[in-house]
Amino acid sequence: MLKGSCLCGGVRYEYEGALGPIAMCHCSQCRRAQGSAYGTNSAIQAAEFRIVSGQALVKEYESRPGKKRAFCGECGSPLYSRLDSKPELLRLRIGTLETPIDIKPSYHIYASSAAEWYEFKDDLPRYAELEDSPRV
Ligand SMILES: [Zn+2]
Ligand SMILES: [Zn+2]
Repeated sequence: MLKGSCLCGGVRYEYEGALGPIAMCHCSQCRRAQGSAYGTNSAIQAAEFRIVSGQALVKEYESRPGKKRAFCGECGSPLYSRLDSKPELLRLRIGTLETPIDIKPSYHIYASSAAEWYEFKDDLPRYAELEDSPRV
């Protein structure tokens, strides 16, 4: 089982399932939501994920119609996103994991939106848009 938490520790979660491929998402929304070059996200099974403490702190921001970005309302840590059209999946922000994992990022998505100051320094596939990637 994987465990994770937000920066302040108010929100704690557990996940019993397997992580999907890890994507580094350079879309402008992820860049703003993380305050960084990209979001580092893994698709997980919503049914295997549970908030074990701090559910009341979890806030959701609808960044586009039907897409919710969940974060801790106390410290601001991004936790996961979800689509109303795919309720079975969450996209976990894996920087919040506490449990070590043994998989590495698989690819970049929205590489066409990457910050001009970011330099790609790996040989991973770079998909221009989400639709080009295998993660859909
Ligand atoms: Zn927090
Ligand atoms: Zn993104």
